[in-house]
Amino acid sequence: MPDLDAIIVGSGAGGMSAGLKLAKDGCRVLLLEAMPSFGGYLNPFQRNGYQYDTGLHYVGDLAAGGSFRDLLDELGVGQRLSFLELDPDGFDRYVFPHHEVLFCKGTDRFRQRLQQMFDGDGPAVDRFFEIFNQIRQAVQDAAQTRGKWLLRLLFILRHPEMIRYHRQTYQQLLDKITVNKRLQAALSAMAINLGTPPERASAIMAVMVMNHYFNGAYYPSGGSGAMRDAFVEELQQQGAALKSGSRVQSITKKGKEFLVVTERGDSYSARTVISNVDPSLTIAELITPAERVPARLRKKAQRLKPSDGAFYAFIGTSLDLKALGVSDANLIHINGYDLNAIIRCLTAPRVPDQIPYFFLTSPSVKDPQGGHAPTGYHSLQVITGTSYQLFEKWSHLPSGRRGRQYESLKRQIGMRLIHEVERYVPGLSGHITQLTFATPLTNEYWVGARKGGNFGPDQTPSQVGPGRFIDCGTGIRGLFLTGAGTLGGGVMACIASGFLAALKAIEYLQSRSAARPNSSPST
Ligand SMILES: Cc1cc2nc3c(=O)[nH]c(=O)nc-3n(C[C@H](O)[C@H](O)[C@H](O)COP(=O)(O)OP(=O)(O)OC[C@H]3O[C@@H](n4cnc5c(N)ncnc54)[C@H](O)[C@@H]3O)c2cc1C
Repeated sequence: MPDLDAIIVGSGAGGMSAGLKLAKDGCRVLLLEAMPSFGGYLNPFQRNGYQYDTGLHYVGDLAAGGSFRDLLDELGVGQRLSFLELDPDGFDRYVFPHHEVLFCKGTDRFRQRLQQMFDGDGPAVDRFFEIFNQIRQAVQDAAQTRGKWLLRLLFILRHPEMIRYHRQTYQQLLDKITVNKRLQAALSAMAINLGTPPERASAIMAVMVMNHYFNGAYYPSGGSGAMRDAFVEELQQQGAALKSGSRVQSITKKGKEFLVVTERGDSYSARTVISNVDPSLTIAELITPAERVPARLRKKAQRLKPSDGAFYAFIGTSLDLKALGVSDANLIHINGYDLNAIIRCLTAPRVPDQIPYFFLTSPSVKDPQGGHAPTGYHSLQVITGTSYQLFEKWSHLPSGRRGRQYESLKRQIGMRLIHEVERYVPGLSGHITQLTFATPLTNEYWVGARKGGNFGPDQTPSQVGPGRFIDCGTGIRGLFLTGAGTLGGGVMACIASGFLAALKAIEYLQSRSAARPNSSPST
């Protein structure tokens, strides 16, 4: 009989959330993380007194009563965290060639803003928000139908339009609303947060990303590391065991137990396992033998295409960024109105002549007390799209040992990016005190991201909802999935998926006589 109720493989947002929900319900939990530090994309890194986030720049839905706030409180981490609200009047500043659009809190405020800017296209703006509200309502209603066929039937009758939007890209939705490319671009800039351009993005997911931020945008005081630490501390307080440097090599079901073996040769057994590793990798590489997974799910895992990767510049500077006009708003430079063409150009496997799109944010301006930079200095993070293929030939080599050619390619792209950033931060290149570049290989190595993808499987119409692993199941009883490959990419979605996977594991454990959780799951 195993001592453990649950083993969690991977400590990203989803893994930590799953482990915490289980531990709070009285389960004995072991969390195994491959890397030396916990957190996955929530794990920041330090260089010469600077601390940089890797996968959290802002989150939404945190106002009182917001769903993310409720989720964090339920997990017991809400009390350990404080959040700084970014300027509600404009927390994303999209700079297009001829105008700027400020994305703000509140659908009505943003709608009025667009109506003023696109005078003459008022009906198109209204039509967009009509569809936006329909989709938002339908997604909320859909959550109530889980496992209840009568409710599902009622849902389909009440929201027939969802059947259509479910298969549509965001670009198809926009094309029905307006031919005005500038209005389309204004409505697409935020949706790019999905990591997928409008021509590939699921219309429903694009709307839901915007909805997440319409309730306000927040940054955790202390950055992503503070969020990771809150989870780790609460996990420890709830009695969970955490082991870093423990890369899992195989997960095998033996009778009613699972045997989990690490690369170091340690083996552990438990009644249930939740994997935070990408579903395609979990199924193809960890579950042994993979044939235990039903063929239908194996095929789905094989089919899933990863999202695009990112090129990052992490910059320390002696410049007074606030004096230069850098605010707590994220600045998104978009040199054109065809976002599809822009992303296609960036993600082609060649060094771009110019960088038509980047996202710029300063953690030290957003959170001056957060320890992001030494006193008197600032930190900047700049992110743009890139192609995994451009770097693929070095993918077999570990971080820091990929050689001179790789380093010089990084520098070539990175300095081009810094040159573009100087439009907004004049003199930057002469005042750099710390500089680190990262590529999709960085995310592949440090987070286990498949092909370095930013948001798990690409969020296209065929790869969201039932096209993903939305029910967290693997087809093997007692073995579940969490993370970006389940509900979707983004910190809140991943934490929610951990909670959902844990509820399923608790249900499973309760169905076995040996299970001993304290409380009943709420679904
Ligand atoms: C550039 C960028 C910017 C982003 N900005 C935002 C943002 O502003 N807001 C937002 O909400 N989201 C943002 N995201 C997305 C968000 O960070 C991720 O979707 C989310 O954190 C992923 O969580 P996850 O649960 O999928 O786990 P991951 O973070 O993917 O972690 C998986 C963990 O599993 C571990 N692991 C892998 N293989 C093994 C193994 N064999 N054994 C043991 N452990 C293993 C890894 O080391 C890792 O720690 C951003 C992402 C990127 C890349």
